[in-house]
Amino acid sequence: MRTLITGGAGFIGSHLCDYFIEKGHEVLCIDNLLTGSPDNISHLIGNNRFRFIKHNVSDYIYVDGRIDNVLHFASPASPFDYLNYPIQTLKVGSLGTLNSLGLAKAKGARFLLASTSETYGDPQVHPQREDYWGHVNPVGPRGVYDEAKRFAEAMTMAYHRYHNMDTKIVRIFNTYGPKMRIKDGRALPNFMCQAIRGEDITVYGNGSQTRSFCFISDLVEGIYRLLISGENNPVNIGNPEEITILQLAEMILSLTNSKSKIVFKELPVDDPKVRQPDISKAMSLLHWEPRVSRDIGLQKTLKYFQDTLNKNK
Ligand code: NAD
Ligand code: UDP
Repeated sequence: MRTLITGGAGFIGSHLCDYFIEKGHEVLCIDNLLTGSPDNISHLIGNNRFRFIKHNVSDYIYVDGRIDNVLHFASPASPFDYLNYPIQTLKVGSLGTLNSLGLAKAKGARFLLASTSETYGDPQVHPQREDYWGHVNPVGPRGVYDEAKRFAEAMTMAYHRYHNMDTKIVRIFNTYGPKMRIKDGRALPNFMCQAIRGEDITVYGNGSQTRSFCFISDLVEGIYRLLISGENNPVNIGNPEEITILQLAEMILSLTNSKSKIVFKELPVDDPKVRQPDISKAMSLLHWEPRVSRDIGLQKTLKYFQDTLNKNK
């Protein structure tokens, strides 16, 4: 099998590169390093089943030879990143998805789109099931990401229906683990690094908003099962254990034995108040559910941030 992963030098993409290499695939990783890092894939350089191509997938993608699977993961993903790169985010969600679908069509490959729980926006249905159409502000600052992904889903379904392509859509909920960028601005890396350094823990709003955090190895397994399944409609992959952001901050404080104080900052515009996946579809169709407990996942991630911060000292 030859598997192409766009965004393969990012957090999730680099874990996917490892996973497919371990499965015996040849892996082509395409990334323009906008928010990713060569450090995430440096251990794979020299492996003759791995190739890195530095390229912006919003421009035409040319790859020689056979391709069996195209996994489209390229896109800024943290709110901090997509607010910094609004146009690139819209382009990679639209043009990047079009080019990735076009490549998959030309090669007769399976296609998998990395979509997001953000397609549900600030949801009025809780927990979120795949048949909920969402509540997104198209002209708010987060719209650049949410609408690009909604467009990407529509484009993927059009290629499936019109060109009869085998396409998959995974709606990924908040995922965490080693290789997250220290400064990607998301709650989990912020809180862990702030706690380790003894800095104030910045909770936005009053911290009552909820999220449901999935450990990276669980997500990757779910993505693989969806890829090889017969399902073409969107499937939620995430961990349904929901917590408030204030609880997350407190949990990280106690895990790190840190003397940091929690401080409250302004809540970003259109920040979703609740988020929790209904994973009954993944459970019945893919026989998938998360296995890594929050305690274990947080400990592994903390070790990664401690090691990374020590190296950067
Ligand atoms: P990330 O920023 O770590 O990785 C994204 C990668 O895409 C980076 O390596 C970046 O350099 C690359 N990239 C961006 N624009 C590109 C372009 N035009 N051409 C080529 N490469 C480009 O983010 P991540 O957390 O690994 O997210 C990966 C994918 O999963 C994204 O599509 C994101 O929307 C989706 N997702 C992630 C989460 C999460 O919790 N991490 C949740 C929902 C969806
Ligand atoms: N958040 C926070 N402090 C931070 C970073 C984020 O309180 O330093 C909040 C953010 O406003 C949101 C939640 O934590 O309510 C999760 O944010 P994140 O950026 O991790 O992901 P999102 O789910 O918003 O995409």
